[in-house]
Amino acid sequence: MSGLLVGKHVLVMGVANQRSIAWATARAVLAQGGRLSLTYQSNRIKPRLERLLADCDAEVTLIECDVASDDGVARAMRKLEKERAVLHGLVHSIAYAPAEDLQGSFVETTRDGFAVANDISSYSLIAAAREARRLMVQGGSIVTMTYAGSHRVIPNYNVMGPAKASLEASVRYLAADLGPAEIRVNAVSAGPIHTVAARSIKDFAGMLELLQTHTPLRRNVTAEEVADATVFLLSDLSRAITGEIVHVDAGAHAVT
Ligand code: NAD
Repeated sequence: MSGLLVGKHVLVMGVANQRSIAWATARAVLAQGGRLSLTYQSNRIKPRLERLLADCDAEVTLIECDVASDDGVARAMRKLEKERAVLHGLVHSIAYAPAEDLQGSFVETTRDGFAVANDISSYSLIAAAREARRLMVQGGSIVTMTYAGSHRVIPNYNVMGPAKASLEASVRYLAADLGPAEIRVNAVSAGPIHTVAARSIKDFAGMLELLQTHTPLRRNVTAEEVADATVFLLSDLSRAITGEIVHVDAGAHAVT
């Protein structure tokens, strides 16, 4: 299937490198005929993004956006507004927790670690949705990335578990709030994928190996598979779906 996003302008937040789920999503948006804008966390990442985009035959707007402050998010959206007025899709693919809070005993979680994990990984969706809705004058679709650690104990996922639980609750509240403006809000719950963010979780490789034999499909998933589901949620094919958590995990959620 092709052309699912023709006429749609999608902002993807959270490309760090070629392994990022956000990068697979950005490529899928372009492959489906969408117009693409990207935000990146800091200028350190920009040259890497420019190199990645050199292979794509598309004009892509690049905007710096550190989601740690409301100002940063608002500034990025204002820049986008100047470039291309209407936005149809927003992909929030951002998470962070200090590495020391992604190992050991959960009860040792620090106040600061908890605050920063929730701020960057969960609250930032609310901030981004609040700013993006002004640009979604024709309705829109917002998609974020979550993980099963939101509702099950996954060794070493620790502080990110409550952050993802809060993120998923925000998806439902935002869906209720923004639905009357024809803006849908959903999450993709992805199986583990080898990315920079995932590498900071202690013994992540062991998790990948275990799922290889335990998922119904007897394998792990790829960033491209997560991106395809995200494109579905961005497209009109999912026009009656909102407040949903879609599992793209080779069936792991059904058996564990
Ligand atoms: P990634 O490291 O490629 O992406 C994480 C992104 O978050 C990076 O681009 C980073 O720059 C950005 N970020 C962190 N702090 C930020 C800040 N203050 N301001 C702006 N951006 C900031 O890793 P990924 O695995 O592609 O992660 C993307 C999303 O997918 C995350 O929400 C993650 O929790 C989720 N997810 C990942 C997996 C997995 O196994 N990789 C599984 C399920 C869900």
